[in-house]
Amino acid sequence: MATLHEQTQQRTITCHCKAIRLTFPPLREPANECMCSICRRYGALWAYYKVEEVQIEDDGNALEGYAWGNKVLSFNRCRHCGCMTHYSILRQTETEPEPRIAVNCRMMEREEYERLESEQSDGD
Ligand SMILES: [Zn+2]
Repeated sequence: MATLHEQTQQRTITCHCKAIRLTFPPLREPANECMCSICRRYGALWAYYKVEEVQIEDDGNALEGYAWGNKVLSFNRCRHCGCMTHYSILRQTETEPEPRIAVNCRMMEREEYERLESEQSDGD
């Protein structure tokens, strides 16, 4: 059971039209700007969490996913506004042994986004 203090520390992001909302703990490390072929195109800025740490809500039909190549990751976006809010892991592999959710920090409100620390990684 989370204490009141822990609950107030929770962070949220939404897509532009607010049909999708994610709630998750504060970042534990700098957000990761991954330069792989897909994350670079999305302009994604990731914070990684265990699946059970992230609460995902949508309006009932906003979420849709894109999986490519070996179909390990699903990049999830809003059907209405097109914002890519997070990725999830569809099946476990050697490179992704743990289920996790990566939250796209570009979806933060501007005030929080501007305070964010980030690092770039190669990704390929
Ligand atoms: Zn939306």
